[in-house]
Amino acid sequence: MRQATVYIDSEALQYNLNRVKQLAPTAKIVSMVKANAYGHGIKDCLAALSETDAFGVACLEEALEIRDLGYQQMITLIEGVFSENEMQIIIDQNIECVIHQQQQIEWLLTHKEAYIDQGLKVWVKLNSGMNRLGFKINEIIEVINTLKSEGFTCVLVMHFANADVENHPLNQQQINQFLQVKKACSPILASGCNSAALYQWPELNFDFVRPGIMLYGASPFAEKSVHALDLKPVMTLTAEVIALNHIQTGESVGYGSTFIADKEMDLAIVSIGYGDGYPRAFFKQNYVAIQGKSCRVIGRVAMDMIAIDVTGLNTAIGTEVELWGKNRLVDDVAEANGTIGYELLCRLTTRPKRK
Ligand SMILES: *Cc1c(COP(=O)(O)O)cnc(C)c1O
Repeated sequence: MRQATVYIDSEALQYNLNRVKQLAPTAKIVSMVKANAYGHGIKDCLAALSETDAFGVACLEEALEIRDLGYQQMITLIEGVFSENEMQIIIDQNIECVIHQQQQIEWLLTHKEAYIDQGLKVWVKLNSGMNRLGFKINEIIEVINTLKSEGFTCVLVMHFANADVENHPLNQQQINQFLQVKKACSPILASGCNSAALYQWPELNFDFVRPGIMLYGASPFAEKSVHALDLKPVMTLTAEVIALNHIQTGESVGYGSTFIADKEMDLAIVSIGYGDGYPRAFFKQNYVAIQGKSCRVIGRVAMDMIAIDVTGLNTAIGTEVELWGKNRLVDDVAEANGTIGYELLCRLTTRPKRK
């Protein structure tokens, strides 16, 4: 059987959740499990994250999946509901929503009694400069005051555009606006931090933190590795050697014959490709790991296969190759591919088997 396999290390996930607790000891943790737990598989991840206070997802369908699996923790819809009929469903299912635009306020007010009776909080989103979702600073205070006077418990929420960049000028603007609104609407619950912000501004952890990528043991920072952040990679993507070739100087490898050997080499063909979600485009030399040793990827990535340089290694049919995991970090593969670990993790296809 073709072996392209995703392993999920539940203990690493728990370890990373504990890291969140160390960094934000007084905040409640909303573990972000959107997009199938960043591609890791929601089912396994929910089980490993049972110590979290709440889950965060992007839409109702993702929230209902959590309920269907039997988990009772609070869930926050970070983009809120997309239509009025979803409002009644979230109330019945004990799911909280973000409010980021006027129409959602009307939907919420229509269902006011049921929402409040259920004990649900409303997360009110400040657009502090990212210009994606939320009310601007000159609107939000009135929105919050209205909701509070209607009897809602509110959580002021914002999202950083550059939490991964230490000295980006927008950071201070976002922080200032957030603190200004928090003060004007006091008392109010507050949530400002994703993974990167949690590391950067512990003083902004407030009532709820919203870690995502750090739970999965990938780095939100281009310049800091998961090891430096004391996180453990959760996903390992492996495949097996399915053929071995010995080639001579001047021979080429793969589609387009883009690689031409400048010496005799041993190649292994590995059963992974872009059909599994392994990226095809690289602008830097990419590597895989075999028993902790780094091997170059040779020539173009095909739909089902790649070639790697195993010269001098004792490789056989069936040898396991790590595409990313604890030895070859997903962040480093992403960097060579011109993207971020988040994307590679999320865009695996259903073809690799999950263990
Ligand atoms: C996805 C998301 C997060 C988590 O971000 P990470 O960078 O993965 O920690 C937090 N808050 C919101 C609103 C999000 O959309």
